[in-house]
Formats: sequence, C-alpha cells, structure tokens
Amino acid sequence: MFPCERCGACCQSVGRSEAYRDLDRGDGACRHYDDATHLCRIYDHRPLRCNVDAFYDAFLSDKIPYKDYVAQNRDACQELRAALAQNKRKRQSMQDAAGIEER
Ligand code: SF4
Repeated sequence: MFPCERCGACCQSVGRSEAYRDLDRGDGACRHYDDATHLCRIYDHRPLRCNVDAFYDAFLSDKIPYKDYVAQNRDACQELRAALAQNKRKRQSMQDAAGIEER
C-alpha cells in the first residue's frame, strides 16, 4: 500500500496538472479537499486517478515495478510540498510587505 502521509499536498495542487485540473476549485486545490482536516471529503469514492494503488493495478502493473512507481510518487509528493511551501513563503512575504495578516 502506498505510504501516504496525508499531508494534502497533492490535493492542494490539482491546478498544476492537466490530468486533475477539472477538480480545481479555483485556487489550485481540489473542490473535495477539506482545508481543516487536510483530507478528502469523498475519499471512499474518490476518482481512480486519486487512488495511487488502484491506479497502479488498473494501468501500470505490467509496465513498471511497484517499488519504482512508489518512489516516483514519493518524489512527486516532495516536489509538491516544496512548491506549496515556497508559495506560502511568497504569500507571507507579500502580506508582510503590505501589512496584511493571514486569515
Ligand atoms: S478527489 Fe479527493 S483525493 Fe482526489 S484530489 Fe480531490 S481531495 Fe484529493
């Protein structure tokens, strides 16, 4: 089973991917993402493309070893987390410059 850490980085980044952009609620995050819990509100019924293991079983199990697939997904997680952290720092910097407090 994919070792998801439930950070929510992927669900906050659907706007970055053409394959997930239809889920974008307008700010880059998925319309099913719960900001308070960092979880998916439709988790048990989420799209197949959001289910890392089921997607592998359906489309990739005969093309790539599972451990390589997991490693690629973990790399993607790290990239998304870094991008989100960078965006947060930029936003904070702009807010600081404008004297605006985070809501
Ligand atoms: S449907 Fe759920 S799992 Fe898929 S991107 Fe949206 S919040 Fe994340």
